[in-house]
Amino acid sequence: MKNKTVICPECAQPSETDDIIKSCGNCFACVGCEIYICPHCSTEIVIKALPKQ
Ligand SMILES: [Zn+2]
Repeated sequence: MKNKTVICPECAQPSETDDIIKSCGNCFACVGCEIYICPHCSTEIVIKALPKQ
């Protein structure tokens, strides 16, 4: 897994992906979505949304 910096759309704080919680980490059948929780304001930072079925 590559570490990268993401910017929260709500509070504009940058976070390292290694340091924050991955919101979709409990998904046992990962389909490639990438969603993190902002440690500053708990907003979901969507990098890659769930693909439409
Ligand atoms: Zn935020």
